[in-house]
Amino acid sequence: MEVIETRQQLRTWRGKVYGSVGFVPTMGALHEGHLSLVRRSLSENPWTLVSIFVNPRQFGPNEDYQRYPRTLETDLRLLENLGASAVFTPPVEEIYSPEDEVHISLTRLSRLWCGSYRLGHFDGVALVLTKLFHLIAPSRAYFGEKDFQQVRIVEKMVEELFFPIEIVRCPTVREPDGLAMSSRNTYLSPRGRAQAVALYKVLQYIQTLAPTTHRTAELLQEAQTYIAERFPDVKLEYIAIVDEYSLQPIDHLRQSARPRALIAAYVEGVRLIDNLLLTPPEEES
Ligand code: AMP
Repeated sequence: MEVIETRQQLRTWRGKVYGSVGFVPTMGALHEGHLSLVRRSLSENPWTLVSIFVNPRQFGPNEDYQRYPRTLETDLRLLENLGASAVFTPPVEEIYSPEDEVHISLTRLSRLWCGSYRLGHFDGVALVLTKLFHLIAPSRAYFGEKDFQQVRIVEKMVEELFFPIEIVRCPTVREPDGLAMSSRNTYLSPRGRAQAVALYKVLQYIQTLAPTTHRTAELLQEAQTYIAERFPDVKLEYIAIVDEYSLQPIDHLRQSARPRALIAAYVEGVRLIDNLLLTPPEEES
């Protein structure tokens, strides 16, 4: 496995490889969620490049850029064992300069949900991915559904900017109790960790109600009560039921062929997100 730190080394590597290149962008602190993306890429491409880059532009001023977990040595070992072809782990100066002129400003999808609480977050994601897509020129890029709004925005961006890249969505990998794996889970105390399962539990609860309750206002009201009663330490940021293509809220499950529940919440000051595709209702209520 080649460990690449500069754009020049990356160009050299890219010039040597033939056939499809699968690309898995990450911020490191790798867990099974990330590794599932790498395995998928390995199964679909002769070459798989993983990037590990904690992107400063996607963190707000009061967010956790400085303390974001960095475990490069372990990450490299995991990727080597899986059989990744190369890892791109550039220093910040290799990607950004203080004199940079280009900023990407996204509009509709990125102003909803997470984007309305993390101003500029998706602009930063789009900028780093645009740079990485140009440098790496992958055939396919792999993203987790765990960050559902992100993968929808990336799909839209790739379509609009004519990147000849296939975006591959991969299912969310969960802990045995259902908590979506996340690098940020390591911030939680044992008590916080026990409360964090609320996000998945409430999504499942919505799913159990969905066959009989089709009005989303009712579902969301039930969901809020569920959290307040069972998980007092969980501070809900938003919970929504949307059409998964447009990310627009829906009033009734039948309004979308693919209704998806999205949630973001704080536990012990740690921001967690999750989402679940709701099985469409079979009968009218
Ligand atoms: P991150 O390192 O948080 O930027 O994530 C890198 C990629 O891994 C993104 O495409 C995420 O959606 C994906 N990812 C993170 N956690 C999970 C998970 N639990 N299951 C599936 N994919 C994940």
